[in-house]
Amino acid sequence: MTATTRPRHHADETADGLFQAVVEHPFDTLTRLVLADRLDEIATRETCPTCNGWGTAERPTPGPLPRIEERVDPATGRTVRVAKLPAVSTRDLLRLPPPCPTCGGAGTVPDGNAERAEIIRVQVELTEWEAGGRADCSWGGTCDCLGHRLTRLEAGLFTTGVDTWFSHPGMAFTVNQEWFDDPNLFGDGPNTWGLVRNGFVEEVRCPLDWWVGGECGRCQGTGYDRRDLRLGSDCPDCPGTGRTPGHGTEVVARHPVTKVAATDAVPYRANDGTWYWMRGRVDGDLNENGLPADVFDRLDGATEIRSEPEYLFSAKYYPTREAAVEALSRALVDIAREKAGLPPINWEVSQ
Ligand SMILES: [Zn+2]
Ligand SMILES: [Zn+2]
Ligand SMILES: [Zn+2]
Repeated sequence: MTATTRPRHHADETADGLFQAVVEHPFDTLTRLVLADRLDEIATRETCPTCNGWGTAERPTPGPLPRIEERVDPATGRTVRVAKLPAVSTRDLLRLPPPCPTCGGAGTVPDGNAERAEIIRVQVELTEWEAGGRADCSWGGTCDCLGHRLTRLEAGLFTTGVDTWFSHPGMAFTVNQEWFDDPNLFGDGPNTWGLVRNGFVEEVRCPLDWWVGGECGRCQGTGYDRRDLRLGSDCPDCPGTGRTPGHGTEVVARHPVTKVAATDAVPYRANDGTWYWMRGRVDGDLNENGLPADVFDRLDGATEIRSEPEYLFSAKYYPTREAAVEALSRALVDIAREKAGLPPINWEVSQ
């Protein structure tokens, strides 16, 4: 998939407006760079949270008060008041508290906007560098090639800002494609990951239910209120949807996600070598090849009815496993964006 290269004109050029434009046009990297420039313009310093602006590790103890003396001015004959500061010994001066470790004594810290701008630019440059076929340097460490210098900058900025910029309940984030592709590499970590590229979360790996929501326990997914015998009365827990809310809608509202890998959904390989997803679940359980009906219905491709000795089922077929997985990814992005009120992605154009 390639990014649009045509610069867009956005009605709202404030930082908030540009954040929204990034989410609305997830393949448009230029908008992210425009946002980075705007963030630099508004970047400022704020009161240091550690020392509350004092600049010292401890709040300094107030010194002795100045003594007021009255004198007669010989030129005018009037009485004037003069403040006399008590002498400060070298020992007192040496007793000044050490500077605040967070702000180094300045009393203010950057507000984070400049760093947010910088990781967008560094990652966009890194993507271009990789696309240019220059990503095959394997030295690493102290290597001074552009790619490795950018990677080190990326790591520093990401570590500093990850919690502020990308946090979402139950989700972990990485800039490392290998970690993202194989999150079990480091044992039992979180099972929901966001991959941060070009300054934003672009890909998500999560269980299907985490994204779209699970079956409503009260109505067992039917959407009907079973206490009410008039059929069609909505289940009060899930207002008739049959599902508990998923995280996908919230995630796409904040991040330009274009790819979702459902960790517990696997297409089935048919005898003729094609791959398919089944509509619905067998025996109430989510079998790996079965998708909830509303997800299945958003997949592109024609539905075919197949029969097995025991049952009939609806399925959608794809030539390769990858094609089936990508079709599911597009459906998951589409469903979440629609619920978030975002414009649909024109997949034909952006692929
Ligand atoms: Zn401080
Ligand atoms: Zn290198
Ligand atoms: Zn329900």
